[in-house]
Formats: sequence, structure tokens, C-alpha cells
Amino acid sequence: MPRPRKLPDGSHSTVYRPPPVNSQNHRVINHRYTETGAGRSTTVSIPLALKTPDIPGIPEDLVNTLIEMPPEDENMSYAGGGSIGSDASTSFTYDFAKSLMATQNGDEEALDSEPLKRVQNYLAEWRPEIPRYLKEILRHEGLESVRSREVLRMIREWRHLRMLKHAGVGYKGVDQDVPGILAVKCAACPHPGINIPGDWASNREKIWLYKVFFALDANFRLTRFNVSSEARDPGFNKGRAYFVDDPTLQYHLASFAGRWPAEKSDCSDHDAIKLANRRGDHNLSTTGLALATCARHDTIHANSGVDLRLGEEYLLMDYSLLSAIQSFPNLPVTASYDIMCQFSKKLYARIGSYPDMLKTPTPFPRYQLLVPKFHLAAHKESCVWSFSYNYAPGVGRTDGEGVERNWAITNSLSGSTKKMGPGSRRDTLDDHFGDFNWRKMISLASHLHSKAVEAATVREEMVRAFHAASEGLQESTKKQWRQMVLAWEADPDKRMPNAYEHTIRKYTMNRTRLELAKEDADLIGNDTAAQAVSARISRNQLICQGLELEEQLRRLKFDMKTVTEGSTDLALHMPITVILRQQLASSGQTHFVYDLPLLLPSQVFRLGSSCDLVLLDFEWRLRYAAAHDALEQMRKHLLERNWSIDWKRRYGHGVRDGTRSANDVSKLTDKVEACAARYRIHYAVLSTLAEKLGKVGWSADLRELRDSDIRAISRGNEETLRLGEGYVVTSWIWNTSGIDKTDDLSLAECLRVSWCKARARALRWQEECVLLQEEMRRVRAFLEHEVNKWKLRASEASGDPGASAYAHRQASIHGNIKDFCIEKWTGLDAMLAGGLGGISLHGEQLFVN
Ligand SMILES: [Zn+2]
Ligand SMILES: [Zn+2]
Repeated sequence: MPRPRKLPDGSHSTVYRPPPVNSQNHRVINHRYTETGAGRSTTVSIPLALKTPDIPGIPEDLVNTLIEMPPEDENMSYAGGGSIGSDASTSFTYDFAKSLMATQNGDEEALDSEPLKRVQNYLAEWRPEIPRYLKEILRHEGLESVRSREVLRMIREWRHLRMLKHAGVGYKGVDQDVPGILAVKCAACPHPGINIPGDWASNREKIWLYKVFFALDANFRLTRFNVSSEARDPGFNKGRAYFVDDPTLQYHLASFAGRWPAEKSDCSDHDAIKLANRRGDHNLSTTGLALATCARHDTIHANSGVDLRLGEEYLLMDYSLLSAIQSFPNLPVTASYDIMCQFSKKLYARIGSYPDMLKTPTPFPRYQLLVPKFHLAAHKESCVWSFSYNYAPGVGRTDGEGVERNWAITNSLSGSTKKMGPGSRRDTLDDHFGDFNWRKMISLASHLHSKAVEAATVREEMVRAFHAASEGLQESTKKQWRQMVLAWEADPDKRMPNAYEHTIRKYTMNRTRLELAKEDADLIGNDTAAQAVSARISRNQLICQGLELEEQLRRLKFDMKTVTEGSTDLALHMPITVILRQQLASSGQTHFVYDLPLLLPSQVFRLGSSCDLVLLDFEWRLRYAAAHDALEQMRKHLLERNWSIDWKRRYGHGVRDGTRSANDVSKLTDKVEACAARYRIHYAVLSTLAEKLGKVGWSADLRELRDSDIRAISRGNEETLRLGEGYVVTSWIWNTSGIDKTDDLSLAECLRVSWCKARARALRWQEECVLLQEEMRRVRAFLEHEVNKWKLRASEASGDPGASAYAHRQASIHGNIKDFCIEKWTGLDAMLAGGLGGISLHGEQLFVN
């Protein structure tokens, strides 16, 4: 028996001080169990039931209830083969843990049982005090540290046994060593042998229906301090639930250390932001968690959790994705990841170097690799096409953001799990992930229902819009465009011409300058006088320099404004300078250099003097291009700022992260404002000169920029987190592309782009409708399979009433969910298959063309 711990002086001045323990007064019953790990087994003895200690200030009956719960006579043997025990000695732990789990799970039925009701009543009455009371009791016994650790261990043991029990380990023919066996499967995903036909691959047209969607991501909240070790705290689950088996992972890391070094990103620098936020984590042995979730139904894929060591090392991210894929042999794969454009570069080369256990046994060795919809906005333009869910065939309306929604929930676990040993942490997270998946399973009925109702409506809208876009177009033109799209889709490297992209005449400063230089040369042709002038400085050079100077002055003005009177030391020593400065400013005697009139043609024109029309025209066109440039840059900065804020919200915590992120945001805000100021200057000149120069049609692209227009692409409706093209609520600044819509060639291109996009939208919604029918079918088939499985187990275990009863219970639970789904989904299949552009799952695949 451990000796009482000495309390730190003064730390309990107002709290009761424990009297010396007299072990004669206490009856200690030990609970023993054997724990094996790291090649040795230890028998742990936990002192459990204690006779009521007399503790002043704590109601005696509460203490009695908490530590001397009567033995339960209900059957307490577990399918998992282990038994927590059914004597009085363990009833405290049993009820404590059971009540804890029931509260966490909202398990009404369990909470209704008599002993738990009693615990619950006390919990309800004394809830805020319970932890303190428990502590007091333990402290009184001088067992504070020992006992709390043992209680935690009991909870962990309990959790593991529950997992085994749920998975049916212990029944005939269930091998608990199968990776991922303890995980709750996604009922709506395809599982060969369970909910898809054996000959699913026979109809090539419908193979896309059997894709498995993986959303890969890393979470940097779920960290772990450098405490304990694998040897001292090995996990119970060992790769049988959501985390991968650690020894195997370590072996993999050791074998491939340094083989695939990090590469520099050639896309946006969101990676840099991630890295910047990761510095100084010296006390962490795990800096985050990689996880693959089902991108369609948000469930967590079995065997995909991998602890990260530093950043998002490809070696570890590969391991997470490839292990998760192993649970879906032979099926086609769609995977998304927020930096997929970089990750995918050498993915197949890396896979080629890995051992067989990480290679997918699949006839579809090339995966469909994408970037989640919202994240894609922060990528460079070529990624936007190649990695978009909007333009990828056969993905329906998947957005790939499910993993983000999952993090929002799992982040709340970071506070407790980061202080755990490695095994405890994995087991605890495994348990929560299981709970998470089970909740998804229960909510699938309503989840798919609302998706279906929406899809059926929007699909009609989008198909109608596509028909409208097709009207009046020649069949041959459409055929040509369609072939262009198909060829681009079929090219895995996306090097074919992209039908969705504008190629002609983007208005940029550089292009316009080049154009003007040519025109200038033509204009001065034989005019020797003009040539002489132009030899010193050409007209477009002149105006370009003017515009550059204008920008420098604007910056200077901005910098000068930020240097206020108070911020110079001058005012401190000579307060008179403040007054002098004000007098000078109000008298109009000072001329700040930034107020210097540049007298560009537009200014000359405004002052009423005559001005060379060619120069005016050149200035107008350069400003038109410059305005587009300013908008383009502003969009970039807005995206970066969004990314930065988003990062902070998701992973940043503490003062250091807060300050850094606030600095980033304020710098980006300055940049955005600078772009806006530049744009406004150009816009003012453009609109004053447009009429004089006979410019029409330009205002379709450029408009007056109000403060309210300066915002990033909206995430759409925050509640439903609707994302993407179909929903985006944007400011006009995102709709302007800098495309000249005035000549025929450009017009034809605009038509092509809008037709192809309309086609893609209609197709995605049609696909969504077919996918949803298939998913509802799969859920029903999956639950049916579960019911039969548990019924079989019940009959096989008929000699063991406990095991048989539990199997019946599971069969009934799954049966109830199935019945609920069938009822909830009445009429949905017909709705999804009917109406404009509707396609039946079982009929021909009549997509728009
Ligand atoms: Zn799924
Ligand atoms: Zn990219």
C-alpha cells in the first residue's frame, strides 16, 4: 500500500487536510488484471472498493454510492473474451466507466438502468463537485496519484473491451488480428462481398459508381507531449481500429528514411504558412495526426491514422492513404488532399518503391487525384482545372471538405490526449473515432435524405440551364467542344488543351505594353519627326513610366501618412513641431512631393487643355490593363488572407501563434488596400475618358470598387457549408477575368467555356443523383448484411445466453436503423430517377451530352 503523499505547502489552505491513514479502518479489495505489451506481461493490481472513509464535508451516502455500488447481477461477461468481473470489488469501476460511456454516447437505454440511474442522479445533483470529491477521497487514502491512474486505466480497458464486443470479436470465425476489424465501417461506401454485387466491374459504364472516396488531411491540434514511450505505454488496438499499427509504421519509416526528401512547392505558398506555424514545437513527440476520411459521408476510414513527426511528410501521408485503401481491395479510388498538386507529383514513383503491403491490389492503379473544393481557390490557375471536383468526371457533388468538418469535432479531444502516453492516446482517439462513425451511421438516413432532395431539384435546374446554353449551337461545334473536354479528361497529366480555360488575350500590363509598342511603331511609320521624338522615349514608354511614378507617389503618400506626428521622436523633444506641422498643412504652403502633379495625358485633358488623342488612348488602354492587374493581385492577397485566418482558426493556439497570425493578416490587409487604391485611381481615369475615347463594353468587367466588394470568395451558406460554383455568393471582383469580349474569336471562346462549364455542372448533378440512389441501396444492403451476421452469431452462440443476447441486440439495432432508412427514403429513388435529366440506377446512363 503506497504511503500518503505529502501535499505541497499552502496549496490546500482552505481545503480539508487528510488525517493520517489508518489502514485498519479500510477494507481494500484489489482488482487484478494482466496487461501484456512490449514482450512482457505485468499483473496490475488496482485497489478498488474501500470502506467508507469518514471525510468531513462530503455527503456520506454519495461516498457510499460511489465506492460501494452493489454488485450487478446482470450478465457481465463480454464477447471480447475478457471479463471485467462481477463481484463487488469492481462494481465501482464498472458503473463509473459505464456511466461515463453512456453519458458520452447519449445512450438512453443504458442510462435508464437502475444502478446507472443512481450514479446519474448523483452526478446530476453533484456534477460540479464530483471530480473534487473523487480527488478528496483518493487524497484521503493517500492514493491520489495511484488511484486516478488506475481509474483511467480501467476506463481504457473498458473502452477496448467495448470495441471488441461491438466488432463481434469472440464470436465464431472473427479474427481480431485483421487490420481495421474494430472500426465502424461506412455503410454507404462500397464493400466487396457486403453491399455491392460480385460482378460490379462487368458493366464498364457503371464502374464509376463503385469509387471509394478518400479525403486525406493532417491535423495539427492533435499533438502529444514527449511523455512516456511505446515500451511503457503500448496500445491495445494495434492497428485494428483507426490508427495504423505502430511497430509496422516505425519499420516503414526506418526503411525509407531520407529516401523521398521534401520538394519545393511550385504552387501557392500555403505550405509556407503551415511551416511557419509549426516552429518551436520542441516538447512534442507527435506534432499532429494524418487521417483519411470518406469524402462522401465524412466517416473515418479504418487503419488510416498516422502520427506526424514534423510537417506533412509525404512518407507518412502516403502511409495513411495507402493503408486506408487496403480495406477496399480492387475498387477504383478518388483521393483528395489540400496540397494534392504537389503530393501527386511523385506519388506513383513512391508507391512503386514501397513494400507490397502498401500497394493496392487493384485493376485501377491510377487514382483520381483532386483538391477539396474550398482549398482549391488558393491554388495557382492550372491546379484549379486539373484538381477540381467540378471538372472531374464521376464524382457527383462531392466536395472533399468532410475531413475539415471532422476536425472541428476531434479538436476538442486535443487537450486531454496530448498529455497521454502513445498507446493511451491512440486507443482513446480510436474509441472516439468509433463513436463518431457510429453517429454518422445513425444519421445516414437524414444525411442522404437531405442530399437527395436537394440534388433532385438542383439537377433539374442545371440540366435546364445546359439545354438553354446549347440552344442555337451547331451540332458540329458542340461535338468538337465535347471531344476537347473528353480528351482533356482522359489525359492524366492534363497536358491536352483545356476546354474550360480561356486562352485568348488576357489583359495584362505586359501584353498591353507589347501591343502598344507595335502600334506605336506602325503609327510613326514614315513620320521622321515623330521618329526623332520616339527615339528618346516612345509614347507607350512615356505613359508606362508615368503610371509607375504615380504608383510610387501613392506608396510614398501611404508611408508618410503612417508616420504620424506622435510616432516621431521629434514631437517628444520639440512639442512645437506638432503645431507647426498643423499650421503648415492648413496654410497650404507645404507641397508634399507626393502631391506633385504628374501631368499625364488624362490630367492634361481634365485641366481643359487639348491633348494628343493617341496618347490618351494609350494611357486608357494601359490603365485598363493595370486595373485588371490590380484586381488580380487583390484576389491573390484576399485568398492568402483567408488561408491565414483559416489556419489560425483550425490549428493556431496560444499567444505566439496569435501574434504571428495577426501580423500576417494585417500585412495582407495592407496589401489588399494598396491594390484597391491602385484600382480606384485607374478606374476614375477610365470612366472619365471612356466617353471621349468612345470606349464601350469595358464596364462589364470593371466596376466601381466599394469597400463591401473587397471580400474573398464566400464559402456560400455557412450552415450547410455549400461550396463551389453552383452556390458561390461572390463579389463582382471574382467574376471578372480580364478577357476581351469584343472580337469574334474571343466571343467564340467565351461561348465554349460557358457551354463546357454548364455541361460539367449538369453532369455533376446528374451523377450525384445516380450516386445517391446507389448509396441508399448500399446502406440498406450493408445493414441487411449486419442483421444476418449478428443473427447467425446469436444462433451459433446459443449455448452462451449472454453472448447470444448481445448478438440479438445488435441484430435488432441494425434492423431498426435499416427500417428507419427504408421509411425515411420512401419515394426518393423515384424522385432522383425522374424529372428532367433524371437517370435510374438500374437503367441506361443517359447523361447530358
Ligand atoms: Zn462513405
Ligand atoms: Zn496547387
